[in-house]
Amino acid sequence: MIHIKRIPVTPMETNCFIIRDEATGRCAIIDPGALNKALSAAIEEAGYDSFDYILLTHCHFDHVGGVSRVKQLTGAPVAIHAADAPGLRDPYVNLSGTMGGCKTIYSPADILFTDGQTFRLGETEFTVLHTPGHTPGSCCYCTDGIIFAGDTLFYESIGRTDFPGGDTRQMYDSLERLLALEGDYCVYTGHYERTSLSHERAFNPYINW
Ligand SMILES: [Zn+2]
Repeated sequence: MIHIKRIPVTPMETNCFIIRDEATGRCAIIDPGALNKALSAAIEEAGYDSFDYILLTHCHFDHVGGVSRVKQLTGAPVAIHAADAPGLRDPYVNLSGTMGGCKTIYSPADILFTDGQTFRLGETEFTVLHTPGHTPGSCCYCTDGIIFAGDTLFYESIGRTDFPGGDTRQMYDSLERLLALEGDYCVYTGHYERTSLSHERAFNPYINW
């Protein structure tokens, strides 16, 4: 079982999540788009040395802007799908140069994920699903009944594919793969409110399911 705390960060209201394995108290932070006051307080409350991972769903500035400072605070390794790791170091690809207002090179990745890879946070096992389309290395982090979907799937919407490396065909393949997962999942999205696979199967206007 994991406990999930959502902390909106950045003017774009990116959803940053602090997740904690209930059994062991081990924590991870997903998409620290900026280190605002709320996120600083939440990290301090969790305990700086309780973080095992900084998990990135993709390399865009509004999801990774706080990564360097969060790494300094926690010492946790930065993990991202291998295909988006170069983007952390490229202001054109991570959009910091074009949309973020300040060309930025972020902390390099320490862990490069591949599709289907599993990892443990305390006693909770996660699976990495590579879901390219929004970016080449967009990925979702899945555990029992829960998906952290980044900018791939939103409440009754989907991620944009018109940024560098975006690919509409891949996006639809990724969405199909997500919706085809057996059973229902709560979907924690990179922006806006959370949703569920069953809701999106029924109501997402971009997907014929
Ligand atoms: Zn994005």
